[in-house]
Amino acid sequence: MPTGKVDEIFDLLVVGGGVNGCGIARDAAGRGLSVLLCEMGDLAQATSSASTKLFHGGLRYLEHFEFRLVREALIEREVLWRNMPHISWPMRFVLPHHSGLRPFWLIWLGLFLYDHLGGRRRTLPGTAILDLRRDAAGRDLSPVYRRGFEYSDCWVDDARLVVLNARDAADRGADIRTRTRLERAWREDGVWRAELRDLGAGGMSTVRARAIVNAAGPWAAEVCANRLPATVGDPPTLRLVRGSHIVARRLFEHDRCYVLQNADGRIVFAIPYERDFTLIGTTDRDHSGEISDAHCTAEERDYLLSVVAGYFRKPLDASAIVHSFAGVRPLFDPGEGAASAASRDYTLTLDADAAAPTLTVLGGKITTYRRLAEAAMRRLRRRFPEMGPDWTGHAPLPGGDGPVDGKPAGVAALRAAYGFLSPDWADRLWRTYGTLAAQVLGDADCAADLGEDFGGGLTAREAEWLVSREWARTAEDILWRRTKIGLHLGDRQVDRLAQWLQTRA
Ligand SMILES: Cc1cc2nc3c(=O)[nH]c(=O)nc-3n(C[C@H](O)[C@H](O)[C@H](O)COP(=O)(O)OP(=O)(O)OC[C@H]3O[C@@H](n4cnc5c(N)ncnc54)[C@H](O)[C@@H]3O)c2cc1C
Repeated sequence: MPTGKVDEIFDLLVVGGGVNGCGIARDAAGRGLSVLLCEMGDLAQATSSASTKLFHGGLRYLEHFEFRLVREALIEREVLWRNMPHISWPMRFVLPHHSGLRPFWLIWLGLFLYDHLGGRRRTLPGTAILDLRRDAAGRDLSPVYRRGFEYSDCWVDDARLVVLNARDAADRGADIRTRTRLERAWREDGVWRAELRDLGAGGMSTVRARAIVNAAGPWAAEVCANRLPATVGDPPTLRLVRGSHIVARRLFEHDRCYVLQNADGRIVFAIPYERDFTLIGTTDRDHSGEISDAHCTAEERDYLLSVVAGYFRKPLDASAIVHSFAGVRPLFDPGEGAASAASRDYTLTLDADAAAPTLTVLGGKITTYRRLAEAAMRRLRRRFPEMGPDWTGHAPLPGGDGPVDGKPAGVAALRAAYGFLSPDWADRLWRTYGTLAAQVLGDADCAADLGEDFGGGLTAREAEWLVSREWARTAEDILWRRTKIGLHLGDRQVDRLAQWLQTRA
């Protein structure tokens, strides 16, 4: 049996450090609950860093009549952007059209709905029709695309969204434990006792909690089946649908994004990514096998390349691909239709034990994580009647406390204070840390004051911040989730960073 102090009783034990777990932990901590979050790997290591990175209503879901979800997500886009203008921003989406695809009038109608379903848009511009023979967005496309549409959604750095929720939760008192797996939990004397395994340092600890939130994403059914007692009820049926992306060297020069309709009825996005690249995705494939082994298969890569080939003048071949990743959508829809048609909405299931309840989260989108957290708190109110009201709608994430259009002034102020920063370097720091960027750089007078330069603009001082403030432990945490500097480094530079982390530890 494990040993460990079990004196403290947390109000909430949250299992899973993806966007939903961290969003719930933050919301609960801000309402005055004591929260412990355990994540078996790194924050956002699973689905929440492998998304298409859009705060969007999901134009396509209108075809599946998911009006509730689309409406909630459409309204939410501007709320989220306002609260994190450093890591998210609006984008215009160009949807080229030709007669072999969905009829023009149908898309027009869909976009009209998309513009109005969420009520009054405050800042995002509405739909426009484009003449692709004249518009710059048509220049890179095959000449068969003469007309198109342009509409608005927002972009977000998904992995940073997760870590900033965790940071804010911790600043409000939550205990965030990464590399810590829930082994099993059972009810004893009206509370939960849970065994947590420290997968980093080794060892096991036992904690107590008044309620458990199972936010284990694609593992939610496994957590119910193997780690919680049978009294919690039958494990839910989850449909695991893999989505893969490829990252290629930049396909086009402008800052708009393309929405490419494919003959199979699916759509694929081609999005400007990290200045020098284009992010292309995604696929929808039922996933079997280990969830953590999900990767972009050769078949998925070829599928994405073939969709791009149908649109762009310049051919794109596999040699232009610099990176790929895959995530597994945890969809609660058990239907047997096409994976792309499975519902993207979420459900929250509360088990019957009022003294020590369990709330299981299934499904959901990055875009709806904050609303999902509010809904989770509503379900738990009976157990915690004293907790505070909804608060996250007007609360910026760390570094997001500037105006939505504050980036040019923020970057200029950074460059004025730190004369050694190049425009690209200052821009990246702002997109990563927002108003906290100056705290990361501290009292540096010159680049050398920031310590070792690992490449791609990453210095020892920034790495130190990520370790001490953002739970980064490995080179992968730093290069692929806290930042995307991995796109710019070679193997030797990665090894050097790993060495530095080891020495530091
Ligand atoms: C390809 C793809 C594209 C997408 N694009 C978008 C998009 O553009 N916009 C959008 O809004 N949504 C998008 N989504 C949906 C969105 O990414 C997911 O709904 C969301 O990330 C799910 O978050 P989560 O927290 O539920 O799960 P996860 O992020 O998977 O987190 C669950 C966590 O639980 C941990 N865990 C599991 N078991 C245990 C245990 N026993 N102990 C401790 N920890 C445990 C895991 O390690 C994992 O980190 C996309 C999804 C995919 C797959």
